[in-house]
Amino acid sequence: MIFSKKAGDNLYEIYYNGKLVTATDANEAGIFLKDNFWKTERQLEKTVKEIEKKAGSKIRKIVESDGLRGNKALTINEKKEIFNYAKQYFSENAEELIQFADEMSTNNTGYMALMDVLYINTDIMPGTLNTANSRLGWKAAIAHELEGHRFAALTDKTFFDPNISAYANDLLEEIQASVRASKNGKNLSKIDKEDLLQHALERYTNHNRFLEGTEYVSLTFEQIIEKLWTLKY
Ligand SMILES: [Zn+2]
Repeated sequence: MIFSKKAGDNLYEIYYNGKLVTATDANEAGIFLKDNFWKTERQLEKTVKEIEKKAGSKIRKIVESDGLRGNKALTINEKKEIFNYAKQYFSENAEELIQFADEMSTNNTGYMALMDVLYINTDIMPGTLNTANSRLGWKAAIAHELEGHRFAALTDKTFFDPNISAYANDLLEEIQASVRASKNGKNLSKIDKEDLLQHALERYTNHNRFLEGTEYVSLTFEQIIEKLWTLKY
């Protein structure tokens, strides 16, 4: 038997034969139900795995659901302003290490640790404002990527606990990046700092199911933060 419910702002839970599947938007949940109603259990197993993979892969993006952040091409002036802010985080080679997406690109903004590159697309801009993720201003988003993910990667502090799943590690790395950016990000407004904390809390609230079965599940959000690398100067 299948039934589904809305589990959060951008989260739908679908129960099928006692198994829980998560979809990140209503459309995805609807398509799942429409396409899978007549499938056998084995056929469904494959679909469930694919959806779980997709939901997990969204954790590491500043954009958690499509269309909720900016999607208009950045102007030359916007790019200039964004570049000038972002370069403060680099001691050298900012021109090569900060890259803007071309207009056809559908890749999300993100920090690519292997190449030490900050890749910036239109989703660096805020969106429709009804979630903390969507509200995050572009300075806060850059601080999340650079003060959060980049600084951690360069100093070997990217969150990693060998006893928990990749999803759980990703979730805790995301929380660490936003809390760290909130505390240590450069030239952020009070609103940016508050939004970054809300962003961390929202990710925790939406995805803490990934912590089930780990030592973190019994901790409060504040206690989890104490275990992360979020030092002030
Ligand atoms: Zn992130």
